[in-house]
Amino acid sequence: MPTVMPTLFVSHGAPTLVTDPVPTRDFMRQLGGLLPRPKAILAVSAHWDSPEPRLSSGPSPHTMYDFYGFPDALYEMTYPASGSPAMAGRAASLLAKAGLPATLDPQRGLDHGSWVPLTLMYPQAEIPVVQLSISSHLPPEHHLALGRALAPLRGEGVLILASGNATHNLRDVFRHDLLEQPAPYAKAFADWLTARVEAGEDAPLLRYLDDGPEAARNHPTADHFLPLLVALGAGQGAGHEMAAADRQGRLLHNGYTYGVLSMAAYAWGGTSALTATAPRP
Ligand code: ZN
Repeated sequence: MPTVMPTLFVSHGAPTLVTDPVPTRDFMRQLGGLLPRPKAILAVSAHWDSPEPRLSSGPSPHTMYDFYGFPDALYEMTYPASGSPAMAGRAASLLAKAGLPATLDPQRGLDHGSWVPLTLMYPQAEIPVVQLSISSHLPPEHHLALGRALAPLRGEGVLILASGNATHNLRDVFRHDLLEQPAPYAKAFADWLTARVEAGEDAPLLRYLDDGPEAARNHPTADHFLPLLVALGAGQGAGHEMAAADRQGRLLHNGYTYGVLSMAAYAWGGTSALTATAPRP
């Protein structure tokens, strides 16, 4: 039996996470070593928002600098992982079978939602990466369905790595210092989110804007929340009967940057590989 890969949601914070001396950076540096070794990575980024699902399908995706006003050093970093036209095609066929036709985009590079976590997790860039877009004008259910459709990839050695932020009010970020204590409104949402993930409850997560404490303030736009639902769907639907315990996600890391960005990270499915060695949040 090949290893069934877990799925992950990570909070990527600001692009400076790569160099900032914060616990989340240290956590992500350890994370790659705690996972079974993937053959390829499907990265679902908050920073690729398209009308329909799109998959990067070129053999050598370029590094994108899709942010402004950051230190020069960030614009000199590259993440030279190869792409995987074959895996992009396989993902597209799984999505088509589920009634979610996707477009292949051979020109697309890796945006910072992907390369910031990947630089920390797999600094050698030796594992091929394909990116998948979100569609923030479509409902949460669309993103859960994307994940469920892609779940078979987990049994083929593919790590589904969703990258957004557990809370994401950018306007408030600029009012706080990097290492500030969490703001109560951000902590309330992040704690609620962790409790729902750990209980294996999908319905409140799909209704996060209504059910989550101060959800509109924590997620003024949906883009950084929706990747979580892809990881959830893929983690719960591996194409066979899941034990109840496999519906439950696991908190891997719980930190904050700028007091208002929860940097929480979660895993679903096949997390037993992580259980023995993962640091306690
Ligand atoms: Zn972001």
